[in-house]
Formats: sequence, structure tokens, C-alpha cells
Amino acid sequence: MDSAPAVLLLLCGLSVSLAADGEAAGAIFFNPEDAVDYKDPCKAAAFMGDIALDEEDLRMFKASQDVDTEQHANHTNSAGNSSSNDGAADGLSPRRQKRAASSRPERVWPDGIIPYVIGGNFSGSQRAIFRQAMRHWEKHTCVIFTERTTEESYIVFTNRPCGCCSYVGRRGGGPQAISIGKNCCKFGIVVHELGHVIGFWHEHTRPDRDEHVSIVRDNIQPGTEVVTVLLHRGQDYNFLKTEPGEVDSLGEGYDFGSIMHYARNTFSRSIFLDTILPRYDVNGIQPSIGQRTRLSEGDIAQARKLYKCARCGESLQDSAGNLSSPGFPNGYSALTHCVWRISVTPGEKHLSSVSQIVLNFTSMDLFRSNLCWFDYVEVRDGFWRKAPLKGRFCSNMTPDPIVSSGSRLWIEFRGSSPWVGKGFSASYEAICGGELVRDRGQIQSPNYPDDYQPNKMCVWKITVAEGFQVGLTFQSFEIEKHDACTYDYVEVRDGGSDSSPLIGRFCGYNKPENLQSSSNQLWLKFVSDGSVNKAGFAASFLKEMDECSRPDNRLCEQRCMNTLGSYRCACDPGFELAADRRSCDAAACGGFITSLNGSLSTPGWPREYPHNKNCVWQLVAPVQYRITLTFDGFETEGNDVGSAQISIVIVVVSQQVCKYDYVEVRSGLSTDSKIHGKFCGTEKPDVITSLQNNMMIEFKSDNTVSKRGFKAHFFCDVDECSKGNGGCQHECVNTFGSYRCQCRSGFMLHDNKHDCKEAGCDHFVNAVSGTISSPNWPNKYPSKKACTWSLTTTPGHRIQLIFNEVDMEAHLECAYDHLEIFDGRDVRAPTLGRFCGTKTPDPVTSSSNKMFLHFFSDNSVQKRGFEASYRAECGGSLKSEVKTKDLYSHAQFGDNNYPGGSDCLWVLTAEKGYGVEIIFQVFEIEEEADCGYDYLELYDGADTKSPRLGRHCGSVAPEDVYSAGDAIVLKFHSDDSISRKGFHARYTSTKFQDTLHTSI
Ligand SMILES: [Zn+2]
Repeated sequence: MDSAPAVLLLLCGLSVSLAADGEAAGAIFFNPEDAVDYKDPCKAAAFMGDIALDEEDLRMFKASQDVDTEQHANHTNSAGNSSSNDGAADGLSPRRQKRAASSRPERVWPDGIIPYVIGGNFSGSQRAIFRQAMRHWEKHTCVIFTERTTEESYIVFTNRPCGCCSYVGRRGGGPQAISIGKNCCKFGIVVHELGHVIGFWHEHTRPDRDEHVSIVRDNIQPGTEVVTVLLHRGQDYNFLKTEPGEVDSLGEGYDFGSIMHYARNTFSRSIFLDTILPRYDVNGIQPSIGQRTRLSEGDIAQARKLYKCARCGESLQDSAGNLSSPGFPNGYSALTHCVWRISVTPGEKHLSSVSQIVLNFTSMDLFRSNLCWFDYVEVRDGFWRKAPLKGRFCSNMTPDPIVSSGSRLWIEFRGSSPWVGKGFSASYEAICGGELVRDRGQIQSPNYPDDYQPNKMCVWKITVAEGFQVGLTFQSFEIEKHDACTYDYVEVRDGGSDSSPLIGRFCGYNKPENLQSSSNQLWLKFVSDGSVNKAGFAASFLKEMDECSRPDNRLCEQRCMNTLGSYRCACDPGFELAADRRSCDAAACGGFITSLNGSLSTPGWPREYPHNKNCVWQLVAPVQYRITLTFDGFETEGNDVGSAQISIVIVVVSQQVCKYDYVEVRSGLSTDSKIHGKFCGTEKPDVITSLQNNMMIEFKSDNTVSKRGFKAHFFCDVDECSKGNGGCQHECVNTFGSYRCQCRSGFMLHDNKHDCKEAGCDHFVNAVSGTISSPNWPNKYPSKKACTWSLTTTPGHRIQLIFNEVDMEAHLECAYDHLEIFDGRDVRAPTLGRFCGTKTPDPVTSSSNKMFLHFFSDNSVQKRGFEASYRAECGGSLKSEVKTKDLYSHAQFGDNNYPGGSDCLWVLTAEKGYGVEIIFQVFEIEEEADCGYDYLELYDGADTKSPRLGRHCGSVAPEDVYSAGDAIVLKFHSDDSISRKGFHARYTSTKFQDTLHTSI
């Protein structure tokens, strides 16, 4: 018989396998001091791909295991032994395989309710992906995910060393983890992992799979590195057998399209070799397998059976909608049972009401009985059948509008009488904002975690119990970024109205810090304008009090720190919190230092530093002294370049880098002092000199990945600049034992080393981004000055110039003082504009990778000039010529991976009669079977309506490309996660098309 090797069962890995690989690189193993005591899939007895198996699961397979004992006896304790799976290539009888769904009732979540907690250091966008994946399941089935309150059994989203992995079904008896690694946090993969949580095994392990797929065992990886990673703790175990008692295919046919199915090359020796193949065609074509886009019809049908979902009714997730009894208005049949679950995002509330959903019955005609005993519609204020009853209705009386207290309503309809009425119909609407009088709750922007709608304004007024404050914590935050938060924003005020003192106005991609009111009221407004919509925010509020204000200092030995909802003890520098979390022990690191020089290092240097360490050094020198810190050695856990958030972070929100282990240096002694930098990775920070006579150095490590840490030395030095600017005309820079003067832009130091004189004024700039300004900025520019800037960026990219400020003598034609910009290498290039006066010009973009600026001042009226930032922009129209030219995927090609969230369009045009030829030199784009994440697309023409030549990803470069006409379009897209090196192409024009297109 065509046999599936035993290895496959172990090796089922989907794209998760890559993630596991990535995670393992950092040697993350078990942290014995794990705070949450959940059932950790990574500590499972064994693994089957991304499925964790516990001892109980293992017993399930014992019965049939005996048959293969001989072949596999040597496997049972061989973690990390990659060769142990090789020989396991005997035949598999269908009887040994598993079904898709768990048939064990205790593994099914009661009432379909799955309480969850999102733990770990997940970013806002990752949390949004989890919520989207959960809502996807809710939309199509009757499974409900609810934030855990007091439920005993629940799931914890966390990031464990196994990458993406989960147990199958409910384990019971406390929390169980569902691990979502940084590199596999994709919507479809999270939906897949949640499928395991809900109770599904992999589709292709059903008992009848051999009738539908064949396993190409020669193509399976001979080594099992991936499994080794997954099995770093458990034993290597071969799952040849299953207990049929656990098997239940629920009568559903084999589903090639299931999101629980593996792809055709999962665990292949090479991505081009198939390991699992459908045995027959469907509608004349070979069915594709391994999709990770959405639940298939089969997935939905099976889940609905497993959770015994009502046949009639649905989940309603839009912010408004309709529902009605089946057959309305032509009558319903006896023995009808329907359930509707309305779930709008928390935060959709009426401005003047305390409710979140308004339900209006528009028609009602049901059999009338005492207490509506027979036929009825029941409305419950919550997510399930036992939520508080809002009303039970029958007869022909249309109920008054019903308003929910939260974001969910449960509506159940039963018809049991033979009497036939019209039935009922209803509509609902969710509206945002509201007055919240309660001690804790959740607020989200409309439509969260999907993008908020344009032109929304929501106002929440939160009131908690008298005598307390309101604490607000953002779990997730993604709002159109603008320096002054002018477009979309969240505004928070300390009190109960729009005139209360402003706490802050927030936008962008960084979560605001925890906020706290001074009274028992907090006012919050969300505004979106007509364009650019993002995922919005999710925040929770709670009744807050300052626990540390009690006279006993909460028994903290040194310091009590109030936190939202709680407090914690803290210690002075040089001490660390003892195991009792209250007293302080002298620490192995940090301290308060007043000597004029010395050195510091992380604990254990140069050996690896411990996990979860927080060291603070406070250095204090005499007044008028400055402290200079020099790093001698530096190595901490880096930014994990190549993984999701980081690549975005580098580009968009530089503050979020170094989120794992880091060293932070500040001038001053507190955490709100001026920061010099937050450092991580392997690059030694530059020498840092404090602004005053004190400095704070903080080192933090998390619970994974340790490196050597750092060693640094410091010295204190009198600051000559602190008195009379050191006699310098412009700027004074203090150096060890001395000082030096330096001059503003456009000036150079006079021979006397203190004064400044005008300098040459021609600049050559080729950084990827930066700032330029007129001479002497921000002071007045000199008269009779001509300055030029020649800007060059990476080939294939354009230069965008954004003016921060302009202040020049005004004139209608800018005949006097002005700045002129040219679209090319010098003044012979076409002009992009001539600017003067005080109106800030719109951003200016060059058409190629060169831009030239010319600034001129005449002999009268001096103003401040201008300041502008420049940066590289991808895409544009490029001229293909006989001379070969370069094109790079991103401006920092070679130094960094490409940034996330890029959309670049290049149009390469040759002169008439010529074609375009493209040859790829380097090609490395995130790999995915359908290139669904990051990709390069090529079109044979001048726009994307032209025939598509192909979509490419992975590390195999497209073949040399020749256009049929005189143009080719390159479209490069990257999503918000994993990024790679990018591509480098060379293009040139060729005359080949003469031979191809001989006309007439
Ligand atoms: Zn799986």
C-alpha cells in the first residue's frame, strides 16, 4: 500500500515550522520562574507538528503503538536526535489515524464559551490579529471568545519557545497556553491554532485520509531539525496509532480546503517537492491544500456540529443589521430553534445612553401563551444563554426598544406550537460613546480591531465610585500619526466634561502610558477625520486608589509604587526586591556612585547576564562637572531584525525599538530625565556625556535570551562650557580636560578657535534621511549668500523634501531671497519650485534619485531662512537606457531588511522601439506558498492593468525579464511582519523587440 511514513505525523509543521526555527535561534529555553502557572504547550509530553500532546493524549495512542514498537523503541527518549525518525517509513493503515474533531466531550468547551487572556508582550497590532481571528470563528460558528473574569479554565495567548503551538481542545483545570510566536503571528495561522483550541486536529490525519491524499515519503526532510526544536524538552515520539474512541469525523466529507490541512510541501526536503498530495481532481483540477486565509465551508460545518450550534440564526458583527424569524412574514414552522449573537465592538455606544446595542422589534406575531411558554423570543444582555434576561416576548405586542449594557446581545427564538403566525423581525444598531457609571470596563474605538470609520466622534464619560480615581490602561493603540495629532486622535480629560483639564491628546502607534484622574471621573473623546483609518484603540478602565497613601506603606521596606489597580514595592538603587516582593536586598548590580571615575558592568560580565534583571546606576558628580560614559563592550538581545514589529518600528516608531533587553542612559536621576538613548543588540553605543552633573544608567533583561551584557567606564570632568559658554561665539562642546567651540551651519571656526566666520556653502548629501537648513539656522541668514545642496539617494528611489519651516523675505516672484529646487543633479534640471515668504510649501518629490537646492540671499532684509527634512521614497518612473542602471527594493538595502508596510510602484520605460530587460542580482522576499504576504509583481506594460508576468517571493529570483512593449511595471508589497533582505535588480533597454514585432 502506498504508505505514509510515521515521520509525517511528527513532522506536520505548516508555516509554523519556520517560526519555530526562528525562535530557536535565540536558545530560549525554560524559565523556571515563569510567573503564570498555565499548562504550557512547550512543556508537553510530545508534539505532533504544532499540536502539543500531554500524557493523557499519549495514552490515547498506546493501543496501536505496540505494533510498531520494534521499529521505534529507540525513539522514546531521543530529543534532539534528528536521525531517529528516518526509518519509520512503514505503511499506515487508515485505522491508526485521527479524525478532524475531538470526540471527547470534556475537550469541548461548555456552551462554546472560551474565556481568554492575552498575556505576554504582544504589540497592539498582534493583539488586534488575535481579536480578528477570534471574531472570525465567532462570525461563522457559535463559539464565543470572552475575556476571562473568574472562569476556571481559559486560554492564555503567550509567546513560548515552540513558536505557534497549542493543545487540542479544552484541557480543564486551569489556564492553558496557546503560543503565538513573533514570526507566526498571522491571521490565518492564529485561526488555525484557535482551531486546535476549539477541538480540531489536522484535517489530513482523519481515519479516512488515505482515500483522499497520498504521502510522498521520499520528499520528506530526512533530518528533523524542526521537530527537534519543537521537541526540545519532550521525547521524540512516533504517533503511528490512535485510539479510535477519540475519533469522530462528525459525518463531514474530507475537506481539502480546510484551514486545518497542511500544505503540499509541509516538511519537504525542498519547497518544490510535494510531501502530501490529493489523490483525485475536483472539478477537473487538483485541489489546492494548506490555505491559511479563512475557515472553509467544511471547517464551519464541522465546528457547528461539534458545538451543536442552532441550525438557524447567525452571528451579527456589523455595527447595524437586521434579523427575523425563518420564513418571515409567511410564518414559521413548529419546532423552530434559532439563536442570534450580536457582537459589536465594545465602545459602540449611544452618546446619551448607557447601552451599547439598541434592538428594535419592527414586527411581532407569535403564538400567545401564558408566560410565553410555547413560542417566544428571548433577549439576553450578554454573550450567552444564561446572561441576564432582558425580556421574553410572544403574541402580537411589539416590545419597546431594548438597550444592552455591553457590546453583546443574545437572542433566542423557539417555535413549538402548531399555530402559525407571521413571526418577528427586528433591527439593531450600535453607536459609539456613552456615560459609563461602573467600577471597571472596556472601551474600544468603533469597529475595533478592524479599521475605524471616517468622520467618527465618540465621547465617553467614566464615573467610578466616590472617593476613588479612574485608572486607564491602553492595551492597543494605532491611530493615524501626526505631530500635533490634528487629524485622528484620542483626547483624555481629568474630570467629567470637555472643559476639564486636559491630560493628553494621543495619536500614532505608541501606547500612551497608564493614565489616572484626580477625581472619580474621566472624560475621553475619540475623533477620526475623513481619511486614513487605522485599527484604533482598546483600553480598560478601573476604579483606582493610591494604595501607597496608607500609613503602613503597604509593608514595603523601601518604596511603595502605586500602579493602576494595585501597587508594588520597589527598592533604592543598588538594592533589589527580595523574593517576598517587599523587602530589599543589596543587589549584585546597580548602585549610587559619587566617585569621579570608575567602571560598571552587567552581572556576571563577560558571562551571560541573568534573566529578569533590572540594574540602576545613579552617578552624581560635583556641580559644574559633567559625566562621560564610554562603553568598552556591549552585547544584549537585539531587535530581532527580520521579525514583524521591528521592521515597522525602525521606520515608523523609533521609540519602540529594544523592547526585550536594553540599556538606557539619561541625564538626571529619574526616569523622566532627558534620555540619551536606549541601546540593545551588538553595536557599541557612542560616548555619552551628561547634560548636568548626574547620570542614570538602567539595564533591563527579560525572561528569554541572555547575552554578555556590557562593561563601561565613566569619568567626571569640569564643564568649561557651563561658564560664559566657554567664550565660544556659537556653540561650546565640553571635552575631557578641555572644551572646544563649534559653529552653526554655514559657518566655520575662526583661527582664534572661539569666533565663527562664514564658510563655504556647497553641500553634498547622500544619507537616506536627514535635515538641512539655511546658514545660521535658526538665527538669521547672512546677506549676499548663495548655498547649494546636492542630494542623492539609492538608485530606484526618489527624494522627498518636507519643509518644517520657511521664513524668507517675501516677494511675488521670489526675486529677492529664495530657495529654488531642481529635479536633477544641478540647475540645468527642470525646476520643482521657487520659494520665499513664510508660507510652508507642500512636500516636494524628485522624479529620480537626485535633487538640487539653491538658496540665495540679497544684500537687504535677513530672515531666519528654512529648515527641511528629506527622505527616500520608493517607486517612480525610471528611464531604461542602454547603460545598465540599478534598482533596489528599499533605500537602506544592504544595511537593513526592507521595511514593513511598503507599497512601491516602479514604471520602467525604454525609448520607443526598445524594450526593457531586468536581471535580478539579489532576491530575498518573505516566503509563502501563494506569496500572500510580501511579494514582487511584474507587469508587461506601463501600468498594473497590463498583463501580469508573475508574482514572486522567497529566495529564488525571477528569471531575466524582457518586456513585450517599451515598459515594465514592478510592484513591491510588504506586510507588517517578517521582512527579508529585499532585491537588487539591474535594468537596461534592449532592441530585441524589432525581431519580435516585425510590423506588416
Ligand atoms: Zn496545527
